[in-house]
Amino acid sequence: MARYRGSVCRLCRRENLKLYLKGERCFSEKCAFDRRSYAPGQHGQRRGKYSDYGVQLREKQKVKRLYGLSEKQFRLFFHKADRQKGITGTNLLVLLERRLDNIVYRLGFTNSRTQGRHFVRHNHFRVNGKKVNIPSYLIEVGDVIEIKEKSKKIQCVEEALSAIERRGVPPWLELEKDKYKGTVKSFPVREDITMPIQEQLVVELYSK
Ligand code: SF4
Repeated sequence: MARYRGSVCRLCRRENLKLYLKGERCFSEKCAFDRRSYAPGQHGQRRGKYSDYGVQLREKQKVKRLYGLSEKQFRLFFHKADRQKGITGTNLLVLLERRLDNIVYRLGFTNSRTQGRHFVRHNHFRVNGKKVNIPSYLIEVGDVIEIKEKSKKIQCVEEALSAIERRGVPPWLELEKDKYKGTVKSFPVREDITMPIQEQLVVELYSK
């Protein structure tokens, strides 16, 4: 399925949740969800009741959109999670959190995962001293993520880092802000992922 190219604020309104897809704008009074928290479209203000399938589908769409993946990419992650030991839903969230585009966002080097993906693709980061330009690259415990020397002066990196106090760095990551460097201390546990996600609904949907 093709990547969604419309307004991302519509996605927040559709999922009835702030997905924080637009960086600083999400914290400002311009946030479309804060201004119009009903679904987009002509009948958006009449949010209907969903069937069981509809609830599962919406939850899957929410998680997929939060991490900015296509259906195909998301399914691949689900199958990978399903093959691992443990709880599939938790495995899925942990795998999504381990993506490099998410890590650079979580460390505060970018304002959103979308920006993280662009920056990774454009070779702005090093992992353990090596160039990595694959947004879906899965980090491991102990990995060190750094911004390339030349990229430290990019204005949006400065802006994102200055906003990190407000967003906070998750406990499983360590940021050395002055060195533009982050370390993965451990993999996240379920409690570290604080967005309101009911991952078992995604598992139920894909297990049909
Ligand atoms: Fe969602 Fe951010 Fe747009 Fe608000 S500004 S609707 S949080 S993407």
